Amino acid sequence: MNAYRRDFPYLSEKPPVVYLDNAATSQVPYPVLDAVEHRVKAINANVHRGIHRMSEESTADYERSREAAARYLNTDRDEIVFTSGATHSINLVASSAAQDIKPGQKIVATVMEHHSNFLPWQQLCGRTGAEFRVVGLDPNGDLDMTALEEALTENTAILAVTGCSNVTGAVSDLGRLCRLAHAKGVPILVDGAQDIAHCHPDLRQIDCDYYCFSAHKIQGLTGTGVLYAKRERMEALHPLCYGGGTVKDVDLAGARFEKAPSRLEAGTPNFVGAAALRAALDYRQAREAGPEGIFAREAALLARTERGLREFERVRVLGSPKTRRGCISFAVEGAHPYDVAALLDQKGIAVRSGHHCAAPLLRALGLDYAVRVSPAFYNDEDEIDRFLEAMEIVLKII
Ligand code: PMP
Repeated sequence: MNAYRRDFPYLSEKPPVVYLDNAATSQVPYPVLDAVEHRVKAINANVHRGIHRMSEESTADYERSREAAARYLNTDRDEIVFTSGATHSINLVASSAAQDIKPGQKIVATVMEHHSNFLPWQQLCGRTGAEFRVVGLDPNGDLDMTALEEALTENTAILAVTGCSNVTGAVSDLGRLCRLAHAKGVPILVDGAQDIAHCHPDLRQIDCDYYCFSAHKIQGLTGTGVLYAKRERMEALHPLCYGGGTVKDVDLAGARFEKAPSRLEAGTPNFVGAAALRAALDYRQAREAGPEGIFAREAALLARTERGLREFERVRVLGSPKTRRGCISFAVEGAHPYDVAALLDQKGIAVRSGHHCAAPLLRALGLDYAVRVSPAFYNDEDEIDRFLEAMEIVLKII
């Protein structure tokens, strides 16, 4: 058993399945579960709404979580908005951009995007008449940087790009993308939903304008997300939702709003999820440089998976990007990915099959569906080998 497995209830008790679907959601370790239990048992009071001591304690705890998220990303606390997830974060920015978009402006996204960083922009363009430019891939499955450079012009309202593909695992060169975008005065939103699990982003250094992720991909809980926006961008964001906790005062004539981030967090926030995220970030930071290091382990497990898959003649691995992180997808000649995944499931191996909420990317790769394997640091080499052995049997059956 590797050193991390004991941290996870699901993994320390001889799990019934080999879980290799971590790009969809990750397992939750004991320290996070303990933090959730404590949060609900000891200080389950609403935040920013009362002056009694439980409410004050709850508010302080919530704000500590914001500080923890800010610290982890190397940003400031007032640049962090809690959301329900990456999807919510992106929709917040897109709905705000829709209000500010000027005639003749366009939105640039990439074919590599998850639907959550594609549909909000496509819909915005449909509603406002703005042009939607989608940049494609180079022959290796990396972003076509020449096309991207050409697409970016002074009348681009925003560049929306993933930090890491949830299908091929291709990693974007975020520093270069930011420099290219900023050279044309274009703000850039980075979808960090996959990225966040496989590197420790320093947003000051990357210099993106917006960055978002979901806690459930990094050992937190579902229903919790983060949107980072540079201070001046944060101030300019229009709320996606209106409601309690966002105003200084309201009368029949109008409202005076709080400053961001409160202005953008309408309704009772998910303070339990925020506490869980803080515990998850603490856990990861303590473990990042762990016995072998989270990122090094994941890279090794992914490389082992890729080496094994490439040995199978009938398997086509999608893309050969310069850097692949977190996941790898493949197609089996003459077999539907659902059949492959269903047979693997019978062998006790959990992998993802389908379009992975990235139909444009699958199409660009000449497919409708694929199978995806996404190991996490707590998976074992032995589990990768069990997957590969199961694949051998599946290929014989199909
Ligand atoms: N972007 C990417 C790259 C993702 O992988 C995901 C989750 N599959 C999302 C966005 C959306 O995340 P969520 O469903 O947690 O909002």
